[in-house]
Amino acid sequence: MKTFFTSTLLLVSTVLIAQTDQKIYDIIDAVSAQRIEKDIKTLAGFGTRHTLSDTISNTRGIGAARRWIKSQFDKISKDCNNCLEVFYQKDLVKKGTNQRIVKDVWVVNVVAIQRGTKYPNRFIMMSGDIDSRISDPTNYTDDSPGANDNASGMAGAIEAARVLSKYKFENSIIYVGLSGEEQGLFGGQGLAKYAKEKNWDITGVMNNDMIGNIKGVDGVIDNRTFRIFSEPVPPTETEKQRRSRRFYGGEVDGISRQLARYVHKTVKTYMPEMNPMLVYRLDRFGRGGHHRPFNDAGFAGIRIMEAHENYTQQHQDIRKENGIKYGDVVEHVNFDYAAKLTAVNAINLASIASAPPTVTELEIGGIVEPAAKFRWKMIKDNDIKGYKIYWRDTTSPTWDHSRFVGNVDNFVLKGIVIDNYLFGISTVGKNGYESPVVFPSKIFRE
Ligand SMILES: [Zn+2]
Repeated sequence: MKTFFTSTLLLVSTVLIAQTDQKIYDIIDAVSAQRIEKDIKTLAGFGTRHTLSDTISNTRGIGAARRWIKSQFDKISKDCNNCLEVFYQKDLVKKGTNQRIVKDVWVVNVVAIQRGTKYPNRFIMMSGDIDSRISDPTNYTDDSPGANDNASGMAGAIEAARVLSKYKFENSIIYVGLSGEEQGLFGGQGLAKYAKEKNWDITGVMNNDMIGNIKGVDGVIDNRTFRIFSEPVPPTETEKQRRSRRFYGGEVDGISRQLARYVHKTVKTYMPEMNPMLVYRLDRFGRGGHHRPFNDAGFAGIRIMEAHENYTQQHQDIRKENGIKYGDVVEHVNFDYAAKLTAVNAINLASIASAPPTVTELEIGGIVEPAAKFRWKMIKDNDIKGYKIYWRDTTSPTWDHSRFVGNVDNFVLKGIVIDNYLFGISTVGKNGYESPVVFPSKIFRE
């Protein structure tokens, strides 16, 4: 009896271990809060990184900041046998484009690509922002350290590159510092346009904007919770797609939402100490971020950020008023928390970069039948183990049920009534990594 009990336990633990990969734990451990602290201090030390600020000085202004960021990516690349392609991507934005562009300016992004071994043109991206601002969005001369907004996200992207450049992945990873965010999301627009022109196949963009504050303006202190913002459905959908949702559902199942669920699941699996919070909206109420231009271009994109913001410490002139210290200065940033959220990005970059492609078209059937039916086009890739069907209650935010169905191009889920659930499918690699879930885009009746 005792022997039987022991072997059952062993079997259970073997199954659990098989679902995770030690490499991912190693990546979490490799992310350094000390290096992130150093980089945030360096970025804040450029005085201002306002998009319209000085570009000549080597110590102050956005020019110095972006050259330093490029030098960091270059150094990381040198240390990994030139594994990164590092370059500036820039667009001229003309004076008066909006009220915040008070003179012509080159909006310059710093891009680092870690090319995938198998799918060099498939990308997963992590972004932070280079630029900063204070109370007046057109004040490009006064001190604007932008320590949390958004040196934290920028430092996170550099640190993720340091850690992941030690590995090889099947898909490409892009680490990027975007500029022009505070002036109207210009850097993201520029890079999204560039990606379209280059026909980049982007699985998703993880935009990090403010990942270092744990003391909320509401008094809550929380170093575990973070938010994952995602829009419900793409803004590029057609009127036909919008109409069909009325009959088949899918109001909360766009590509960005699936990416958000993927991140949520990876964190629940590998970082159980963290509380990822899925937020069912594009961004904070009425406010924006650099994932949006990628969404506008039809790419999946989410915003990862702290759960408790402090508005006295963002977009503020540095000053003291009624005993409150205003300003986005380094002393308010929690480096351990920024490291945790950097690890959240790194493990999802690594997972998606290790995963096989998603199926391009999933058809669903089973109307007035006691089973849900699926068919899809199999992907030609010898490293694919098979496909996994997911389903959930229509009110559940997460894919709660799943069944691996093997390397087939159709499946009947017997006893599962199509009316009562939402369904999707992922691709599973022989290496154990899984793609994000794809939601059905076609109906069949037979
Ligand atoms: Zn901001």
